[in-house]
Amino acid sequence: LKTLRLILGDQLNHKHSWYNSSEDHITYVMMEMRQETDYVTHHIQKVIGFFSAMRNFSEYLRERDHKLIYLRINDEDNQQALDKNIQKLISENDFEKFEYQLPDEYRLDEQLKELCNNLDIDTESFDSEHFFTNRTELEKFYEGKKQLTMEYFYRYMRKKHNILMATDKDPEGGKWNFDKSNRKKWKGEPKIPHERGFRKDVSDILAEIEKAGIKTIGEVQESNFNWPTSREDSLSVLNYFCKNLLVHFGDYQDALHTEQEYLFHSRLSFSMNTKMLHPKEVIESVIDHYYQNKDAIDISQVEGFVRQILGWREYMRGIYWKEMPGYRRTNKLRNQNELPGFYWNADTKMNCLHHSIKNSLENAYAHHIQRLMVTGNYALLTQTHPDEVDQWYLGIYIDAIQWVEITNTRGMSQFADGGIVATKPYVSSGSYINRMSNYCKDCHYKVSKKTEEDACPFNSLYWNFLDAKRDEFKDNQRMNMMISLLDKKDPEEMKKIRERAKKIISSPSDF
Ligand code: FAD
Ligand code: SF4
Repeated sequence: LKTLRLILGDQLNHKHSWYNSSEDHITYVMMEMRQETDYVTHHIQKVIGFFSAMRNFSEYLRERDHKLIYLRINDEDNQQALDKNIQKLISENDFEKFEYQLPDEYRLDEQLKELCNNLDIDTESFDSEHFFTNRTELEKFYEGKKQLTMEYFYRYMRKKHNILMATDKDPEGGKWNFDKSNRKKWKGEPKIPHERGFRKDVSDILAEIEKAGIKTIGEVQESNFNWPTSREDSLSVLNYFCKNLLVHFGDYQDALHTEQEYLFHSRLSFSMNTKMLHPKEVIESVIDHYYQNKDAIDISQVEGFVRQILGWREYMRGIYWKEMPGYRRTNKLRNQNELPGFYWNADTKMNCLHHSIKNSLENAYAHHIQRLMVTGNYALLTQTHPDEVDQWYLGIYIDAIQWVEITNTRGMSQFADGGIVATKPYVSSGSYINRMSNYCKDCHYKVSKKTEEDACPFNSLYWNFLDAKRDEFKDNQRMNMMISLLDKKDPEEMKKIRERAKKIISSPSDF
């Protein structure tokens, strides 16, 4: 049958079995569409990154003699919506069958199902052959359990895939988890090798995006677009990580620093989320490198990295498919405030937020602790509506695709799911940020002060948050200690805390 096969922008999987042979009756289609550029305001580097990676992938297929239709954003016959483009192509070319790979996003899943219902030719969906788990494996794993603790899922995955195992049952290194040793502050040593960047000239794609009138956030210059957009680039970032960064990855995973945007992080999320790299090959490369350099690299660095991909990444995917579509509306803490305007321009005197947001606007990147304990922490402490928080995270990061963005944002960071992903909210006063970073040293505010004019805003916001949400946490054992400390606070002090927090929340631009 004359077949049309759809490849979505995040399905750039070179190793997919679809491409094992080129066949005359099969035509692939890839399309840049306003439907995808406009569902949220994306970072300019994210749009460039996707278009560039898609175009490179289309070249790869053409070089291997696959038939391919590629619709660019300004092509005249581009209908700018997935269903309209497919319908048009089918009727103009007399395709007899339509095939697609299962998408990772709920909205696309729904759209494709509806499209197939409306088509009068055969349709078939295929696995994307990317993840370790399918959509429902996590749900089955936790069947009948009250708590969906990630750690147990992670251990199951380690055993099932025989990754870092000493025997069938025992983990290599004698422990499943080396998290406790992975909490060092970075103080200028050890030296961080410059990240493997690409500094590409992206002016052609940028001009096309501007011509199309796509609204974006953030900035791009030749000097700061340094993302991998091909399989070769991605393999080179992976190789660079193994050789230069893995050795300290775990130790400084939670560290924050004004001069170091990437520290020892891998910057592999975009390559994996677009499927240019398979998570299995990433893990295998890292473990191979570890086995070849066992005297130089400690298992805690490797385990810390494997846990992020085999554990958290697969876990978030499973939670997404278990909880959607309801998940996107969760707001268990009933937070209603707007996201402060400085999230869009980094114009704030709070040094930690200034650096984390500036970094995000300049590079479409922030590492996990900036996302969780700086921007996420502040949004939650100021009781921001999770819809607002989601919009920001979904737009600003080059790796942001809903399945992994929303579970991290609503779930892990904003506790909007009421404790499915995180057992307690990730909130802290300024002291945590001070412990893990050098941000406080040059800040306008004093991290040691509580309610004075120059006191760190995180300090009053933290106690105010616990006070305001006390009822939500009364049955949460992990919050008992903080709530009992709250109860011991002097009423006069609490009054000042509430007043200062109110001021910060109502006039964010003054801070
Ligand atoms: P590294 O620190 O080098 O980690 C290696 C890999 O592990 C990452 O590339 C990623 O694939 C995986 N990983 C690590 N932590 C997580 C996690 N919590 N969930 C899933 N995978 C993880 N990640 C995204 O890929 N897309 C998002 O939209 C996204 N949004 C986030 C929003 C918030 C509020 C928070 C707290 C985290 C978010 N994360 C997201 C998770 C994590 O911050 C990023 O994966 C990571 O910062 C990417 O940088 P890296 O590749 O240098 O990661
Ligand atoms: Fe952030 Fe407070 Fe430290 Fe300033 S003092 S950098 S606001 S934690």
